[in-house]
Amino acid sequence: MTAMDILISRGVRPSLHRMKILEYLMSRKNHPTAEKIYSDISGDIPTLSKATVYNTLKTFLEKGVARAITIDDHEQRYDYETALHGHFMCRKCGKIFDVKINPAILDFTTIEGHAITEKHLYFKGMCKHCKKGG
Ligand SMILES: [Zn+2]
Ligand SMILES: [Zn+2]
Repeated sequence: MTAMDILISRGVRPSLHRMKILEYLMSRKNHPTAEKIYSDISGDIPTLSKATVYNTLKTFLEKGVARAITIDDHEQRYDYETALHGHFMCRKCGKIFDVKINPAILDFTTIEGHAITEKHLYFKGMCKHCKKGG
């Protein structure tokens, strides 16, 4: 699906800015902050403002186009991949990796009577690349 198809299927009007931001998330998969998205694409889109990036991300969260990751204590990050997966953050290089989770271990929709609408699994430590580098 293209960015436009995804936005339409989620009931979001596919403006140029929204499509560009979604295309960025889909192609990089780098769990960027809003600031990072703005600094990476504002050069190509002179009409883009930081407020637009924040508002667009808010819309994406509301409509289930993207999800927020709060593994980083300092900054909220964004993820296009909405299918169930975990995140591993390296304390050394700061990179965030998608990690596969067996869906069977999270196969429940309520917990102690509370209805679950989002599930997050965060892990922190040293990534395999930093481990190799010593
Ligand atoms: Zn690392
Ligand atoms: Zn992810």
